[in-house]
Amino acid sequence: LGRRSFSVIVREYGEGLRLVLSLDVTERERADAMRRDFVANVSHEIRTPLTVLAGFVETMASLPLTPVERERVLKLMEQQTNRMQALVADLLTLAQLEGSPRPPPDRWWPVATLLRRAEADGRALSAGRHEISAAGGEDCEIAGSDTELLSAIGNLVGNAVRYTPEGGRIDLRFRTRDDGSAEIEVADTGVGIAREHLPRLTERFYRVDSSRSRETGGTGLGLSIVKHVVQRHGGEIDVASEPGRGSRFRLVFPAARLRQRAAASGASTA
Ligand code: ADP
Repeated sequence: LGRRSFSVIVREYGEGLRLVLSLDVTERERADAMRRDFVANVSHEIRTPLTVLAGFVETMASLPLTPVERERVLKLMEQQTNRMQALVADLLTLAQLEGSPRPPPDRWWPVATLLRRAEADGRALSAGRHEISAAGGEDCEIAGSDTELLSAIGNLVGNAVRYTPEGGRIDLRFRTRDDGSAEIEVADTGVGIAREHLPRLTERFYRVDSSRSRETGGTGLGLSIVKHVVQRHGGEIDVASEPGRGSRFRLVFPAARLRQRAAASGASTA
């Protein structure tokens, strides 16, 4: 796409002084195309489970089913409704994140506590299928929203659980860097991601393996939620991965401050 922009002179104030309205058409076209893609993706994501559900409703209405068959159909219907609920929940989260430019800035959250909560959620999700640990050095605090920060870390842990076969390991780590920023890592020994996919992972609905993502309850929105939360908190996200060996997602938040209180050492999950 070539850059096309044009300018309109809105008002002239005399010699050399003009109010000019400049439009970058390419940018606008790109934004429009992205919006159209997004709506098409959402429609598709909703239509698929709806079609399946409609089929099951018809089956139940028209065929005499045994109690066992009925049970099985209801279970499949539940899976589809869960899938739509997860999608709507993620869409609302994204809309909220995109709608408000800044998180609440003046609350500080200890990283060790955030990680411990994410670890507990990960264990519940894994249900004993993985070895999960959380460890860190000196605790520090990040400014912002604990709900958002937890949803970012939780999404990474959820992915680690979903893309790591049974018996694999998931490690949550944190440390305070020399420059005072907070580093959080979620590493797994799962399926890994080929290099060519890495730059696109945080795009909405981008998936490396669509069927695996859907089977394990993925909405395709998790990492774009993570990216938004991290950006709103002034941080950065970085991924390293090797197919067949595992992935390591790293979040770095600036201006972390060391915890002052003595209780801090007790909060370390090391
Ligand atoms: P999804 O709901 O599909 O997991 P995400 O936005 O969370 O959506 O992730 C996008 C894609 O990145 C996933 O579909 C998956 O292919 C890949 N991915 C994310 N995390 C991991 C991981 N820990 N290991 C392997 N692949 C991953």
